[in-house]
Amino acid sequence: MGDAKMPRKIAPGIHMVGGPDLTDPRDCLCYLVAGASARVLVDCGAGPSAPALLELAMAAGGDPPTHLLITHAHIDHAGGAAEIRRRTGCRIVLHQAEAEVMATGDDTRSAADWYGLSLEPAPPDQALEGDGAIDLGQGQELAILHTPGHTPGSLVAWCLAGGQKVLFGQDVHGPFAPAFGSDIAAWRGSIARMMELEADILAEGHYGVFRPAGEVRSFLREQLAINSA
Ligand SMILES: [Zn+2]
Repeated sequence: MGDAKMPRKIAPGIHMVGGPDLTDPRDCLCYLVAGASARVLVDCGAGPSAPALLELAMAAGGDPPTHLLITHAHIDHAGGAAEIRRRTGCRIVLHQAEAEVMATGDDTRSAADWYGLSLEPAPPDQALEGDGAIDLGQGQELAILHTPGHTPGSLVAWCLAGGQKVLFGQDVHGPFAPAFGSDIAAWRGSIARMMELEADILAEGHYGVFRPAGEVRSFLREQLAINSA
């Protein structure tokens, strides 16, 4: 027992497998979605924690991740990508607008500089031009929405688990900066799309897990209010 780290169950087949309390203070919150035929890791931390994160993902999913969905190319979300692909052979999926930062290991646009880290280049196996989906098997899928705002190629994803709609919304709260290519007007549209989903659970990248649906709605509304001044 002691301080042994365990994946944290969020819903059937869905666990938190990385984050400041679980893997490294520099990591975003990372999630594993385990379906019948695919296991999707949603973001992968800043890099140094990749082996620990993978261990938790294996504990949660039984087998290695088949896909790594990068919600955007900031180091705290994407730093472990190259190492995790090397160890598992998983497919890296992201939006086309983040592909160059990942392929070149751009330490400025990935904010790696700010963390005192370096982004190991990891060209994607699949670069989406808009929305997309990952087949989880047995008629289930992880739907992917292009939600620009924080960065041009920011993505969110959602799936059904135990009859509940779970939304993975990383850095939904921003922050917004010219160096990130942020676009507040686009972000408002992206928040509107997220609200339309009426998710029961929001698994956020830094703020934790929100539920039920009313709490998800409140959080999204609050972000709109904070950023409308
Ligand atoms: Zn970010």
